[in-house]
Amino acid sequence: MDRKLIFEKQSLCKASNYFGPDAALQDVAAVLPAAVLREELNLPSVGEFDAVRHYSNLANLSFSVDKNFYPLGSCTMKYNPKINEDMAALEGFIGLHPYQNEADLQGAMELMFNLQELLCKITGMSRFTLQPASGAHGEFTGMLMVKKYHDLSGKKKTKVIVPDSAHGTNPATAAMCGYRIVVVPSGADGLVDIDKLRQAVDSETAAIMLTNPNTLGLFEERILEIANIVHAAGGLLYYDGANFNALLGVTTPAAMGFDVVHLNLHKTFATPHGCGGPGAGAVGVGKALYDFLPVPAVNKAGSRYYFDNNLNNTIGKMRAFYGNFGVLVRAYTYLSRLGREGCLRVSQNAVLNANYIKEKLKSVYEVPFDKICMHETVFSCVKQKERGACAMDIAKCLIDHGIHPPTVYFPLIVKEAMMVEPTETESKETLDNFIAVMQTIDKLIDTDPEEVHNAPRTTPISRPDEVLAARSPDIRWKKSGV
Ligand SMILES: *Cc1c(COP(=O)(O)O)cnc(C)c1O
Repeated sequence: MDRKLIFEKQSLCKASNYFGPDAALQDVAAVLPAAVLREELNLPSVGEFDAVRHYSNLANLSFSVDKNFYPLGSCTMKYNPKINEDMAALEGFIGLHPYQNEADLQGAMELMFNLQELLCKITGMSRFTLQPASGAHGEFTGMLMVKKYHDLSGKKKTKVIVPDSAHGTNPATAAMCGYRIVVVPSGADGLVDIDKLRQAVDSETAAIMLTNPNTLGLFEERILEIANIVHAAGGLLYYDGANFNALLGVTTPAAMGFDVVHLNLHKTFATPHGCGGPGAGAVGVGKALYDFLPVPAVNKAGSRYYFDNNLNNTIGKMRAFYGNFGVLVRAYTYLSRLGREGCLRVSQNAVLNANYIKEKLKSVYEVPFDKICMHETVFSCVKQKERGACAMDIAKCLIDHGIHPPTVYFPLIVKEAMMVEPTETESKETLDNFIAVMQTIDKLIDTDPEEVHNAPRTTPISRPDEVLAARSPDIRWKKSGV
């Protein structure tokens, strides 16, 4: 594939003039009415073939779940059924405006209300809001409720407990709510060290933020003890349910003693979410925080749906209007198609797939906590590092074999971590191919180390300075010699 910018193609196109003098070149500036062109725009003019091929080839350079296996741990780049897109694009939905009257929005409100009810069943919580626009935003919403709850009770609460395996957004959220972070270390089994937790909890503990399964993909077996310890001190339990694939239809955060949860609808409930959006971090609460949710809540009286602004202790509004509605439509479609049985199968297959990969690869890649994992499994590439290739090298080498790299160097408590989440809908053939490629790369470290160190070799650029590329991307069109 050529690497020219569309601006450069325009010059070539004009220079070669292969369409003849009355070319079907689309001179954009000539087509637009003069009033639109407040200043002269440097818009490229190329033929249709060139335009379509240019963008098709660019799209082909991207890794995506539609093209490649995408075993990214903790982010659930998962199965996104195409029917979800059809539903989200229904004219009746996309033609709505949030300023319309409630009477005109009844169908959309019914969908939101039903989705809230489904999420209550799935989590065991009593009430949900669909307003927050991301997982981190959901955490912020949840912890603002926790803060208001304690403020109203008049007790002095200054600390939030976070395990050392937590997702980075957890301590960031607690800090944004003005709390001091107390980190509890994991024990040798990868689970919260209960004795250390006991020492960390006191009367000023506002909450613990936890995810179960934890970020090592392990189930916190002593969760009821943890709940008792925190509740006994007057603290609340916050559940980070960003990735809920392992628990759907099996158990609920409510049964584990949690008071507030967020779910990433864009992760677990099937919305494509690359490049940071759009998302939905739905938040559910139990009895303690029942009327602290943001307003407006979507409620039902008889057969009529209405926006309820009368929640006694509401923290107010978290976002304009009612959340990212398109994401809600996708989540509702996804859940409606699966039903109760389907949800259970999602979890069973997610857990089965992750354990299959763990068992097949554990003789080659170290598994720091070798027990049954949930929907994802964490390897450590320490043995490979001793032989000269770190987790990053192996991740980059996977690209040359047509596989998107898993999450690396997270969770922070595992050296040379590689976190694999296969997703429930991948076939055995795909998993076997991944396993074979991982074994091949391990051998390459000894037989052809250059291939591992120079990977990826099949992409336009190999290893950019990732921090620089993210902080100051160079996307300007530079006039080259063309
Ligand atoms: C992704 C994730 C979050 C944050 O969700 P965003 O939508 O990216 O803000 C929080 N916790 C866990 C465990 C996650 O995987």
